Amino acid sequence: MLNKSEADMLHFDVMDGSFVPNISFGFPVMASLQPVVRKPIDVHMMVVHPELWIEKVASYGAEYMTVHQEACHNLHRCIQQIHEAGMKAGVAINPGTPNVMLDEVLCDLDLVLIMTVNPGFGGQKFIPSMLDKVRRMRAKLVERNFNALIECDGGVNLETGRMLKEAGADVLVAGNSVFRSENPTETIHKLKNI
Ligand code: ZN
Repeated sequence: MLNKSEADMLHFDVMDGSFVPNISFGFPVMASLQPVVRKPIDVHMMVVHPELWIEKVASYGAEYMTVHQEACHNLHRCIQQIHEAGMKAGVAINPGTPNVMLDEVLCDLDLVLIMTVNPGFGGQKFIPSMLDKVRRMRAKLVERNFNALIECDGGVNLETGRMLKEAGADVLVAGNSVFRSENPTETIHKLKNI
């Protein structure tokens, strides 16, 4: 269904039970999906020490590897290593982490992931104050003439998706609002056309 849908990418939420209070799936699932996925893969690592897994994630054909600023002791090196492994680099920030934490690496990023819920669980309610954070990040990227995409993840549906797009988001990650809808293909179509 997803291969035939209008979705631009598949976003994998990898959780380790340490960085976030939940465990989702890991490499065996990614390995089993790789042969059947016909879309670019965006791997969101909600794990401690994401730098340990860069080669592994690259080996599963990921286009983007996104790590958390809060999980990286040496963020700049981690971004370099993601690029050296042939992937595009994304950095995610939790709702409580200010945009300024990315100032020194923004020039190197392909993607900035602004979490619109606290990471760990699907189906959470969108945090409205994140709209202004997206606006401020958009203004910062425009002002400094950087090309990173702004991705938003958490509580995205047709309503919040529209608001996020207006605020300056480029990429919307949707889980529950797609997979719990009656017609996921149609919901993806609607999200693409908001
Ligand atoms: Zn995610």
